[in-house]
Amino acid sequence: MTHLMRAYARRRWAQTVFAREGALNVCVRARGGRVRDGVSGALYNTSAKLATPLMDKLGAGDIRRARGSNAFVRGAEGDGASGASFDSGSSTGGIMVSAGHPSSHPQVLAVPLPRRPLMPGIIMPVKITDEKLIAELEDMRNRGQAYVGAFLQRSDEAIAAMAKSRHASDDDDVFAGLSKARTTTTMGLDGEEEEERDPADHMHDIGTFAQVHNIVRIPADSNNEKEAATLLLLGHRRLRKLGTMKRDPMVVKVEHLKDEKYDANNDIIKATTNEVVATIKDLLKTNPLHKETLQYFAQNFNDFQDPPKLADLGASMCSADDTQLQEILEALSVKERLDATLELLKKEVEIGKLQADIGKKVEEKISGDQRRYFLMEQLKSIKKELGMERDDKTALIEKFEKRFEPKRASVPEETKKVIDEELQKLSGLEPSSSEFNVTRNYLEWLTSLPWGIVGDEKLDIAHAQTVLDADHYGLEDVKERILEFIAVGQLMGSTQGKIITMVGPPGVGKTSIGQSIATALDRKFYRFSVGGMSDVAEIKGHRRTYVGAMPGKLVQCLKTTGVCNPVVLIDEIDKLGRGYQGDPASALLELLDPEQNGTFLDHYLDVPVDLSKVLFICTANVLDTIPGPLLDRMEVVRLSGYIADEKVQIARTYLEKTAKEKSGLKDVSTNITDEAMAKLIGDYCREAGVRNLQKHLEKIYRKVALKVARAKSEGKPIESITVDVGDLFDYVGHPPFATDRIYDVTPPGVVTGLAWTAMGGSTLYIECTPVDEGEGKGALKTTGQLGDVMKESSTIAHTFSRHFLETKEPGNTYLANTSLHMHVPAGATPKDGPSAGCTMITAMMSLAMNKPVKPNLAMTGEVTLTGRVLPIGGVKEKTIAARRSGVKTLIFPEGNKKDYDELSEDIREGLEVYFVSTYEEVYQHALNWDA
Ligand code: ADP
Repeated sequence: MTHLMRAYARRRWAQTVFAREGALNVCVRARGGRVRDGVSGALYNTSAKLATPLMDKLGAGDIRRARGSNAFVRGAEGDGASGASFDSGSSTGGIMVSAGHPSSHPQVLAVPLPRRPLMPGIIMPVKITDEKLIAELEDMRNRGQAYVGAFLQRSDEAIAAMAKSRHASDDDDVFAGLSKARTTTTMGLDGEEEEERDPADHMHDIGTFAQVHNIVRIPADSNNEKEAATLLLLGHRRLRKLGTMKRDPMVVKVEHLKDEKYDANNDIIKATTNEVVATIKDLLKTNPLHKETLQYFAQNFNDFQDPPKLADLGASMCSADDTQLQEILEALSVKERLDATLELLKKEVEIGKLQADIGKKVEEKISGDQRRYFLMEQLKSIKKELGMERDDKTALIEKFEKRFEPKRASVPEETKKVIDEELQKLSGLEPSSSEFNVTRNYLEWLTSLPWGIVGDEKLDIAHAQTVLDADHYGLEDVKERILEFIAVGQLMGSTQGKIITMVGPPGVGKTSIGQSIATALDRKFYRFSVGGMSDVAEIKGHRRTYVGAMPGKLVQCLKTTGVCNPVVLIDEIDKLGRGYQGDPASALLELLDPEQNGTFLDHYLDVPVDLSKVLFICTANVLDTIPGPLLDRMEVVRLSGYIADEKVQIARTYLEKTAKEKSGLKDVSTNITDEAMAKLIGDYCREAGVRNLQKHLEKIYRKVALKVARAKSEGKPIESITVDVGDLFDYVGHPPFATDRIYDVTPPGVVTGLAWTAMGGSTLYIECTPVDEGEGKGALKTTGQLGDVMKESSTIAHTFSRHFLETKEPGNTYLANTSLHMHVPAGATPKDGPSAGCTMITAMMSLAMNKPVKPNLAMTGEVTLTGRVLPIGGVKEKTIAARRSGVKTLIFPEGNKKDYDELSEDIREGLEVYFVSTYEEVYQHALNWDA
């Protein structure tokens, strides 16, 4: 048992040593023609390079040279048919008896092979560490040629399995004899009477009779704890060990084996042989390392038609595992050996292909990456050569400098300093830093602003007049204002920025005339709407510290237009929002104040910008919501809407033309008759503006287009279409407005008033009726969505009329004893304002006196408690509305006379107007008449 343990220990030690020598072995084997564990061609090449000096050191060259006279080779050449490779010739100086006849080597020194069995005809380096074995081999070499038996070591599992089976056989009579036969040889060898297994059991029974060609000692170092030696063995023929004759170094008794007889002419053998040759050729294609083995084989045997030799050669080229190779070594049947070899070779070819594939892929990847790298480098240098790219930062700084240079002279000193400092800062910053981007964006803005660049403008009154008239009918006030502006500019030699605010109902052309003004002046135009804007940053910009910070709209405008004197239209200034982020109206103050906007300070830009040359045009529907301080800085121009005649003009001259063009009817003669146009304006589009009229005209022409297209597709082209009053229903449906007039003749208690809304002016009725009568019941109830101011003025009216009635009809106690209900129709529309005061009083007086108001009379005016009539707003709108409703007589406060007188003749035409300063006068005009 002790013996068995010792044998195990020895084997473990040997394994460790070989594991350490693994790398070296791989190299040597590679050179020897066997490739194991290989991955890439590169590795093999390296291995081959490494292997060459070692092989030379081992004397492989000598072997090749010596082969010519080698007994084994001669034998192989001799008896191909029998397959026997035994040789009777003498070897070069073999002292342990020549390699000649088998009988001359009944016992041989056993050399354990840690990996791969040695195939006959093949040279293989083997590392041994057994000191005694090395000494013995050296001794033999010194005496002449040394021959040994090379046996592959069994695997641990195989040894364990053998030990187990022996235990079983001890109790089993059948195997008792066999086991005894094995153990008897051991007996007495070393004088130990041990009933133990053969010490050579750790090696396979079949091995190779091999010639030791060289022994090279490897001195002990940090890698090798013990001194070792590498043998170069040349396999000669198969051996079977029969028993151990001596231990340390181990000498075994052997039987030299011959291949089984075979028929060299057998077709299957021939075919398999050919296939083996072909496969070896294939293998060489993918793995040229085997070439050397083959060359060596060809040199020495020169016969690829010797099947057993060929099988051994083939097997030696395979990277199969030890067991498979040992099986081939143990196969004495030539046919079996050939088959097994062929199988391994085929597998090897597949592995070779896979290896080539992997190698190719890796190579492709490497060369692809390299190619890209080289091309990029080339591109860089070409760009540099052409001056297209210095490094990014320098290019950027140069760009900014180039952009800024022409403006430098006109930039304020302070700004110049900032720009220069920022440029310097940029050059010191790392391009990947966030600060770099902030500075870069800042410079981008700073350098692209039109510092001191004043765009050309045309200060030509005649030209401006033509442009303005071409685009818009009427709007004399605005046009006049623009012409004044040009005149002043002409006389002064330069224009100053102004803020013109156009106030009026929607669709009167506020926005579109803004564009016309820019065209008339030949200046750049920029429009933005502040409706609903609640963020101050939209006007003043964000501070640069915020991510995504941007300058405000005005700086953006300057950058876009590229001049510092554009026409800027700020739309819907009355609808400014007010958010938690501040009050944009106050921000607009700085922008629109002519005193301040010469040095407008945007939060982002942080340097003053001159906006004093900008012509600001604001639009609004009402003035009430514009904050006082802002309104104070504006020049207000009112656009009150158009009367029917003006609308006809606008429709005929401007709207019809564009509507026709938009419908593709340029070439078709279409015509809306005057009557149809009048009805369209009177019944469908009564609003102050013309946007609705424009929509209706477009609708009509779209329908006409449909008719034309239909007729065309039916083959009956239409020459011309006329839209008459009767056709209007087909084109635009029912008119949305019934007449404003509810009453043809107003009964007592009903008076026509005039109101002004954001949509323009309108007439409204005030109705009064008694509810209850009785001593002291005089009271007033009002309905019709009246606002606070209007409610108050109704109370004032009630109080005043009670007193006034007494002065007119002293005995009349109607108002004192009757509770009244006063209503203002269109009950769904909210109404407010003081201007209905005189209308309300008149309604009550009319009811109390039971006398209708003079027909076709409308009035407006605020009345105080003492009967004074105060001026009101919206005279033009109210006049227009009154005309529209067929009113002939108007009563206005005296204070509004100047407003009325400013109205154009068209509007005033056919109207009888009384200007009053007390209610008494109203009474005289409205109620003191003979029915
Ligand atoms: P606003 O800004 O006052 O609401 P727009 O300027 O948008 O109105 O005008 C609405 C449409 O009416 C535009 O197509 C415009 O050309 C047209 N328009 C308004 N007034 C006139 C006019 N006096 N002459 C010609 N077209 C006009």
